[in-house]
Amino acid sequence: MRFSDFLGNEAAKTVLLRGIEDENALRHAYLLTGAKGTGKRTLADLFIRALFCKGETPPCGECLPCKKIIRQIHPDVFVLRPSEGKDSISVESVRALKEFLYLLPNEAEKKAVLIENAEGMTSAAANALLKMLEEPPSYAVFVLLAENRSLLLETISSRCLVLPLFEPGTKRVKEALSSRYPDTSPEQMEQALLYGGGNLGKSISYLEQEEVRNAFEKAKAVFSGLDRGEFFLLRSLSEYERDREGFLVLLEDLIQICDVQIQHSGTLSASRFQAGVSPVTAARIYALCEQTAKRLRQNASLGITIAGFAGALSATAE
Ligand SMILES: [Zn+2]
Repeated sequence: MRFSDFLGNEAAKTVLLRGIEDENALRHAYLLTGAKGTGKRTLADLFIRALFCKGETPPCGECLPCKKIIRQIHPDVFVLRPSEGKDSISVESVRALKEFLYLLPNEAEKKAVLIENAEGMTSAAANALLKMLEEPPSYAVFVLLAENRSLLLETISSRCLVLPLFEPGTKRVKEALSSRYPDTSPEQMEQALLYGGGNLGKSISYLEQEEVRNAFEKAKAVFSGLDRGEFFLLRSLSEYERDREGFLVLLEDLIQICDVQIQHSGTLSASRFQAGVSPVTAARIYALCEQTAKRLRQNASLGITIAGFAGALSATAE
């Protein structure tokens, strides 16, 4: 993927590109904010790869630094995110970042730090990070991602150049998909747009990957069988009893379907899923899927979780 493939958000892209082209315009810290699905992670990845890229139009995706970053083995890139099963970034992981940061770069001229879910830092972690942001080494570039700027310490966000991201909108995604995949049938296009929910990358994965399409079909089948009772749901979910990853994908797809149902209640695309599901019920299912996914990530038993999920899901339809 290139910068030009990242739809919309011209202001943020221009600022980041300027930093890549002109060392003097490069800032020590950027904060990308925006709702889930606005592409914060994608844009941050593009930017960080472009910083290290040796190709002609960075990020080329083909030079050694680009490849190492894609494989997450570049020694000068550090990614900080909540550890598995946790919601927040701990002070221990910020200490590990500190050890990384104050050693000179290994291979490149810079060191990049990506901080996902920056609003989810314990206050000890946030304060430890603040010290690094106050006195960053000259070669350091921080990229923080957060859904909501107001949940971050003001002292942290004020040290960053804040770049808010917005959804490019379904219309622009549709235009981009139509020019890239001119042979797609209208039905397939509509499904790709529903699946993507305004996110170009997700819509592309729908069109290009059969397993993505199959998984989405299964989620739609579960969703439209909501009112058929617990037994039906249990039977449809039984195939996931040995497939934790598959079940997590199902939960994510159900969340996407609920999202469409909540945001476009009454429109044609929403009624394609389940005419009888109100936005309130969809919001309940959304929350249930999120809780269930969280429990699974904390290593809850898969069989018990699925059984509990089927029961709670059929109760939402009543
Ligand atoms: Zn490259």
